[in-house]
Amino acid sequence: MNQLALERMSIERKLCHAVERQEFCLHYQPQMDLHSGRIIGVEALLRWNNPEAGMIPPGYFIPIAEETGLIIPIGEWALREACRQNSEWRTLGLPEITMAVNLSAVQFRQHNFGGMVKAVLREHGLDPSGLELEITEGAVMHNAEASIALLLELKAMGLQLAVDDFGTGYSSLSYLKRFPIDKLKIDQSFVCDLINGSDDAAIVSTIINMAHTLKLKVIAEGVETIEQLSFLEHQKCDEMQGYYLSKPMPPEKIKHLLASAHEVNNKWSYKSK
Ligand code: C2E
Ligand code: MG
Ligand code: MG
Repeated sequence: MNQLALERMSIERKLCHAVERQEFCLHYQPQMDLHSGRIIGVEALLRWNNPEAGMIPPGYFIPIAEETGLIIPIGEWALREACRQNSEWRTLGLPEITMAVNLSAVQFRQHNFGGMVKAVLREHGLDPSGLELEITEGAVMHNAEASIALLLELKAMGLQLAVDDFGTGYSSLSYLKRFPIDKLKIDQSFVCDLINGSDDAAIVSTIINMAHTLKLKVIAEGVETIEQLSFLEHQKCDEMQGYYLSKPMPPEKIKHLLASAHEVNNKWSYKSK
């Protein structure tokens, strides 16, 4: 216990320094529209570039950042940097894509969160339709009525809203109908076992049908194989994201991918068929 507590305190201290020294960066993973085969968005994924340990994935430090409240400045930095980056790509003439940014439940409960998002968009001159916020079921269901008010405020600004890791948390279907969301992201745990004769194939097609009935788009995350992709296309899933298309990449690499895909007949060329 003592050892664990000491280790945790050390991570907390280093995380505080990381905020002061701005040791964070964003990697970007492309998202493809399965109807057109075009890349229509990227998801910004946070990394901690620690001078001693190297690149640290978010699963290691986000829970601690949430418990200590450090997620507020870290999350605001991520949102600002993602909007700045998308604005820069648009200025460079790259095709317009949507930038998806993950939100923590803690940020979602932050005072005047909507005002902060509006200020960031204005600061970088990014059209709100170029930003998508990803929220988990747990974050929105925590205080559903307050969430609806905030989601309506965000939606009124013109940005896109997606429910991340859909299927792993607790959602009430009657609330789902009332949330002004645009998209469900099917959690990768369901996509992983799609082809192995498990119940996951039935779950995935049920989520796709339900999303379409509710007039929502649906994106599958964690797509790693052509078989998974074919299944999703067959089920009329709208979008996909996963290692089959690309791993998350640093900004220079993804910029190159966006630019070169643009040159190929002005049409993205990643379609599986
Ligand atoms: P997420 O939002 O569900 O992001 C998807 C995660 O799955 C990413 O892990 C991504 O690298 C990984 N992934 C993508 N495609 C595949 C695939 O085909 N196979 C497998 N096995 N994995 C794939 P990552 O980057 O480690 O992020 C983990 C989680 O950390 C994210 O899950 C999200 O919940 C959180 N996170 C990342 N960036 C931020 C941020 O800026 N703010 C907040 N609050 N959370 C963040
Ligand atoms: Mg996400
Ligand atoms: Mg997810």
